[in-house]
Amino acid sequence: MTEHTADYVEGMVADRRRLHRRPEEGWLEFETTYFIAERLRSLGFEVRLGTDVICPEAVMGRDPAAVEKAMERARAAGVPQDFLDETKGFTGCAGILSTGRPGPVTALRFDIDCLPIAETDDPDHEPNREHYASEVPGLSHACGHDGHTAVGLGTARWASENADRLTGTVKLLFQPAEEGVRGAAAMAASGIVDDVDWFAGAHVGCGAAPGQVGVSHEGYLATTKFDLEYFGTPCAAGSPENGHSALMCACATVMTLGSLPGHSKGITRVQIGRIVSGTGRNIVAGHAFLALEVRGETTEINDYMAKNVETTVKGMAAAYEVDYRLTRMGEAVTYKGDEEAVELVKDAARHAEGVTSVVDMNAKVGSEDCTMLIRRIQAHGGKCAFFYFGCRHHGHHKPDFDIQDRTTLPVGWGVFTGFIERTNGRKA
Ligand SMILES: [Zn+2]
Repeated sequence: MTEHTADYVEGMVADRRRLHRRPEEGWLEFETTYFIAERLRSLGFEVRLGTDVICPEAVMGRDPAAVEKAMERARAAGVPQDFLDETKGFTGCAGILSTGRPGPVTALRFDIDCLPIAETDDPDHEPNREHYASEVPGLSHACGHDGHTAVGLGTARWASENADRLTGTVKLLFQPAEEGVRGAAAMAASGIVDDVDWFAGAHVGCGAAPGQVGVSHEGYLATTKFDLEYFGTPCAAGSPENGHSALMCACATVMTLGSLPGHSKGITRVQIGRIVSGTGRNIVAGHAFLALEVRGETTEINDYMAKNVETTVKGMAAAYEVDYRLTRMGEAVTYKGDEEAVELVKDAARHAEGVTSVVDMNAKVGSEDCTMLIRRIQAHGGKCAFFYFGCRHHGHHKPDFDIQDRTTLPVGWGVFTGFIERTNGRKA
């Protein structure tokens, strides 16, 4: 590693550890967004915030009361009021670096949110050993999005320092609320990627071993997340004819959705992960809440499953004479990369420092809302790719999830910067 590269690595490790200490959940990432925006501005990027990068009408799974509280917390942590005003209450940002020379627009996406998982107190866990564990009870970066953000900032620095060697425009998207696949749809709907010619996104870990880059041609299940509420009529259990049980309706819904027969053209999933209802043994329950999701191997299959949810819920509500509210909380589609972009990622990976192997890696399970940005870009002919850069992670979304930042981040950074060199590099 050259001294110059080592300096980038030190910077990314420091950024990642700082972000790791202050994890923020989706739509609440005000400290994180401020940290990113300040850095981008200092590097000469134009920064777009708030409704310039988030379309409020397309926002899913955002709780305004939680946002208010998060802004209060950010203020207490030193985020200036002017900046909070600029966000208009919507987190995430885009950094735009125009070289002034004609050339393509290349966008890279980095997600920034954390998970509601308490970090392990195991003294051998690296963030504990090196004193940068999460300071926030119950929250941690258990999916490595702190690493993604740090790689994004390292890439920003590289683009800024190498702008003389580039053409066109580099657009770095720092996306909120990836968990629950909530944020990308709103970012796509803002129009921020409508001029994008080349695009790459990535995830740390997953199926990739340390030093390995997994280049993805296709994959991911399309998914729709729902919150469902039933509003019945509570009454005394002794005279049930006076009420309508939201609880009974909810249970019938769970059993009906759970026994949907699937689809002959591919994988389907349905999961009712949470149900809350009732106040007491002898009271007909007036309210029920359910959190559920469906998935499909193709977007069409997922749409079929989502439609089944809608018709089932409507029918159940009628049968039990209760009202209902079904809210879409998140959405992602499947991924199909463009071979030209995938090849550029592959070539960048083969030449990146610290990469020990480059393999094809097409995730069959799981979902990723980067696909919403990709769909929007591909609709106007832009070329997109997705890749993984490996680490020893002990399992995503777990208290002991870890990335080995000193060796892992440079690999992601190497591929992203190599991708820009290949799309926007000046021909000698
Ligand atoms: Zn993730």
